[in-house]
Amino acid sequence: MQHVNPDVTPITPEANISGATHGGRAKCLQRLIRMDLPVPDTVALSFGAVNRIASGDMPDLKSLVARFGECPVMCVRPSSADPDWGGPGAMLNIGLSDATCAVLSDKIGEAAATSLYLRFVQSYAIHVARLDPDMFDDLPDAGTEALAQALRAYERETEEPFPQDPALQLGEVLRSMARAWGGTTARLLRESKGAPADAGLGLVVQRMAFGLGRGVCGSGVLQLVNSQTGLPLVTGRYLSQSQGREALEPGAEALFLGADPRGPSLEDAAPEAFADLIASAERMRVRLREEMQVEFTLQNGAVHILDGVPVVRSGRAAVRIAVELARTGIIPREEAVLRIPPRSLNELLHRQVDPKAARDVLAIGVAASPGAASGAIVFTAAAAQASAARGEACILVRRETSPEDVRGVHAASAVLTERGGLTSHAAVIGRGLGLPCVVGASDIGFMLHSKELRMPDGRVFREGDILTVDGSTGSVLAGCPSMVEPAMDDAFLALMDWADASREIGIRANADTPADARLARKFGAEGIGLCRTEHMFFDAERLTAMREMIFANTAEDRRAALDLILPMQRADFQELFEIMVGLPVCIRLFDPPLHEFLPTDRVGLRDLAEALDLPLSDVTRRVEALAEYNPMLGMRGVRLGITVPEIYEMQARAIFEAAVSVTGEAVVPEIMIPLVSARREVELVKTRVEAVAAAVQMETGRTVNYRLGVMVETPRAALRAGEIAPYSDFLSFGTNDLTQMTYGLSRDDAGRFMSAYVKAGVYPEDPFHTLDIDGVGELLEIGAARGREARPGLTLSLCGEHGGNPESIAFCSEAGFDYVSCSSFRVPVARLAAGQIALKKRAFLEKPPQTQ
Ligand code: PEP
Ligand code: MG
Repeated sequence: MQHVNPDVTPITPEANISGATHGGRAKCLQRLIRMDLPVPDTVALSFGAVNRIASGDMPDLKSLVARFGECPVMCVRPSSADPDWGGPGAMLNIGLSDATCAVLSDKIGEAAATSLYLRFVQSYAIHVARLDPDMFDDLPDAGTEALAQALRAYERETEEPFPQDPALQLGEVLRSMARAWGGTTARLLRESKGAPADAGLGLVVQRMAFGLGRGVCGSGVLQLVNSQTGLPLVTGRYLSQSQGREALEPGAEALFLGADPRGPSLEDAAPEAFADLIASAERMRVRLREEMQVEFTLQNGAVHILDGVPVVRSGRAAVRIAVELARTGIIPREEAVLRIPPRSLNELLHRQVDPKAARDVLAIGVAASPGAASGAIVFTAAAAQASAARGEACILVRRETSPEDVRGVHAASAVLTERGGLTSHAAVIGRGLGLPCVVGASDIGFMLHSKELRMPDGRVFREGDILTVDGSTGSVLAGCPSMVEPAMDDAFLALMDWADASREIGIRANADTPADARLARKFGAEGIGLCRTEHMFFDAERLTAMREMIFANTAEDRRAALDLILPMQRADFQELFEIMVGLPVCIRLFDPPLHEFLPTDRVGLRDLAEALDLPLSDVTRRVEALAEYNPMLGMRGVRLGITVPEIYEMQARAIFEAAVSVTGEAVVPEIMIPLVSARREVELVKTRVEAVAAAVQMETGRTVNYRLGVMVETPRAALRAGEIAPYSDFLSFGTNDLTQMTYGLSRDDAGRFMSAYVKAGVYPEDPFHTLDIDGVGELLEIGAARGREARPGLTLSLCGEHGGNPESIAFCSEAGFDYVSCSSFRVPVARLAAGQIALKKRAFLEKPPQTQ
């Protein structure tokens, strides 16, 4: 029986090769060989063999080299378990010596053979002997004289002649590549890409296909799709008389692949080889179930396939490729759904900086709302509105935003703030509007009086200067790099449908206005999970009405202000119900942190004084009297509802009147009470809401159906969910406030030190971004369990910003929640993540893990 050494294995269709022992490249080459593609002879060295080589224990090099015949010329390439982990660069032309060069001269011509030998001497000197590349600076371009000089330079530097034995050359190459993998730089680099500390390296030794010589010779890469769009297009590069990836080097005079009016092509030069390559790439797609890039060499017109690697692709191309693979029956739809990282959809939903564009990064803040936009910087909401009126794109720059800035935010193309974290005002509004937003950019000097931004490198940008805000990466860039447009095309829609077909948990949207609601529908939300009613009052006229109500001194004044607001609210709800017809709409009663609604500047105070017909000094005094030390823990949510009951009564009336007025499919509104911390709060509000429902029923003669629930966003509400649930049809966890209160961490100020905290490993992630499963998650589990125990069938959901986060959705799904709700622009990401979670769970159930 033939002795088989599993560590040094010729790659044949039957050889025992796996990605886990020999690496991805070796496994892929075996697949190509099984497809009968013209792959040059290859031998795979296992992780174990390479490990031993690093410590000086060489395999039998003589017999290894003998496999490649009388005139052995080889290349060695890395083969790690995951191609992303990198590895040492390939070494080509190993085996070239005076003797082999002479033999090759007869076969492929002297010029080509000399050129191969020269290339090898140079790369061996630099990468194996580790000599200074400068030593070859003065060589002639090519020819025997260049080779002779290179050999002399080598001998001078090393005090030894250039090695002539192919086995010795190969041994040195293998040792050098094995040691490079074990070096600290390479290890840290691959660990940063997720490789385990002990990740192995395999190597493949392949017979050289030269790409130089007589007839049609050259090398290149070919793929059947465009890397940016994923649409069918034969693309790649081919360079005559070249090797490796020389065709891809900048400045290479590479040919087009397919016939092209712009210049000569491979198809013109070698039509049969071109047709062969296309056919090979098509077969690879089917057999490897992936869109592949073919790395090839032509030797005297004959095609050699050296490797196949998955096509590098943008997020949008990834969706198109996965969907087309499923549509053509190559992979099941479920696999297409599983192949796309949910967050990569952001690239399809928003404009992005073109990945090929140069980026002049000025500063980095918190990436608060994805997408990118360029514009002239402006420092006030009024200036933003003026820019918009002139039809000019602008970026609103503020220390932080407040409701007074909302019209400016609407008018701007992007927002940049000095303060704030992921749940700050600017961040929440930005995500709702799909507006790129970077917050907490505290490295920039915000000189609001002189209307300047001082960048960390000393550059100063003044009002009117052009910047780009990239909310996907959190960076602020100089100028306006080119952009890639969003692409919600048929492939995207198909992927969403397929994800929905598997999904188990519901996905709703946080939507406050009719425009938001339309977006929610467009993105496939199954209803509104959170309508923040105070956001309906950010509009200038309405803000004044709202302030009048807050400032009212007497019940009579308040009633007058509320009478003004009621019809506005009713109209808002009517429109929302009409847009969302057939779907649930959950309306949260007023939850204004009062400070967000108080005027902050003289103009605001004067406007309010005019509206209230009071002297400015009175208004100023009352604003001061209403100021709270800790507004986020002050007169918010249900506390306002209990202290000033007329507000919630007005809102309940507006909701019911709107619901009964909508024709067609009956609307069942959901009313949600915010910031509850005690059962009695719910009891009191519930009684009043019931009374309003009865009144509207009497007045209109129409049945009023609704569901009343509680927003669980204080730790106490989660702990006491058992006594709150009997009064609630649903509990919706508001994880923004719940995170703030569980950590005792201000959501508006956390941005200042969050990155230092994450860097120091105090928190693994920003808990406002990634749900803190250990702490806040435990409160969610306690709340859910106690709530459901007290009231079986209780609807459970999460409506904080975490609702759009794939990891949080997995948690909610596991905890048996009915739905999550997130801003409309994140709904597609959430739908895909939820589909994947269900598919993975099913696969797990079908294949339970081995217990032994
Ligand atoms: C929350 O606290 O999680 C929430 C959704 O409400 P808001 O962000 O409006 O406080
Ligand atoms: Mg809240």
